[in-house]
Amino acid sequence: MPIAEYFSRDYAAARRRFQSAAGRAGATLTSYVLPEHAGPSAEALAIDVARLGNTGAQSALLVICGTHGIEGFAGSGCQVGLLEDRLHEALPASTSLVLLHALNPFGFAWLRRVNEEGVDLNRNFLDFSGRPPSSAAYEALHDWLIPADWDGEARRAADAALMAFGQTHGLPALQAAVTSGQYTRPTGLFYGGTRETWSARTLARILTEVVPGTVRRLGVIDLHTGLGPCGYGEPILDGAGPADRERAVRWYGADVKDLAAGESVSARLAGTMARGVERARPGLELTFIGLEFGTRPTLEVLTALRADHWLHARGGGADPALRARIQQQMREAFFSESPAWQAAVYGRAADLAFRALRELA
Ligand SMILES: [Zn+2]
Repeated sequence: MPIAEYFSRDYAAARRRFQSAAGRAGATLTSYVLPEHAGPSAEALAIDVARLGNTGAQSALLVICGTHGIEGFAGSGCQVGLLEDRLHEALPASTSLVLLHALNPFGFAWLRRVNEEGVDLNRNFLDFSGRPPSSAAYEALHDWLIPADWDGEARRAADAALMAFGQTHGLPALQAAVTSGQYTRPTGLFYGGTRETWSARTLARILTEVVPGTVRRLGVIDLHTGLGPCGYGEPILDGAGPADRERAVRWYGADVKDLAAGESVSARLAGTMARGVERARPGLELTFIGLEFGTRPTLEVLTALRADHWLHARGGGADPALRARIQQQMREAFFSESPAWQAAVYGRAADLAFRALRELA
């Protein structure tokens, strides 16, 4: 099967392809249906989990896609490829392989990065009994990020203001202010929410119900797109200290970038998924990487995200042509139709999954 056929055009097709590949691989499949929501063709939305290998395993590799909804087009294709290419036949004796398909099925189906509540899941794994991180830097930019109109004077003024901010403070400062996570604007970009989301709760269940209780060493590869050089996958370590960093470099090589040290294409973040995994399965040796694949230039990706949020915040759906244009922009910001890009992405994901299994043996 050509690599391009691992990838799907919509969430429903991706889900069917994942389930059927998992079935043929002999995986145990579990589905967690998102209540009270459906996809654009009234299809059910669910997190599907395929488990292969030893149920009393000492170690496990968990590969996640669709944390950021629409980014699941790439990640789902990688997971289908791992199943079609029978990665499980390379499983060491005391290791389990768990593939989690579409952590944010709503965003995947509706072509959004955020979930059904407008929440960025990778900013949502906070302890909400405490005070959330400051949103002041984002607050200063919010009205420019989502202007009153998308094709008129307000948009032009907002773009000029954002450019001026970037020139004064530098593009890294702009990226950090916009993307680090904010907890005050539910219709805004990179919103972390005010409570634990259904997806975060369900991930905790999967970590205790599907990942074997015997597991002591866990590798997580969380598949993302939208940042960095086109077609390159940057392994971004979300670790808890020097030992995690040393282990990640041993597993994946010198390409590993440390999120906490500010080395990565991503800004430093709070409320990331690694914290949720640590809470659900305390005491594990956890090696957590986000694998971030570049698509389009950063400013183009940011513009697509602004457009998508504008569409939802300002009710721009009244114009079907504009809506269709923005949805197409979103697709291109987080996925590429190029078979060469897809081959590079799948090859990299398969390589890193294979390395993780070898190290988990
Ligand atoms: Zn992402």
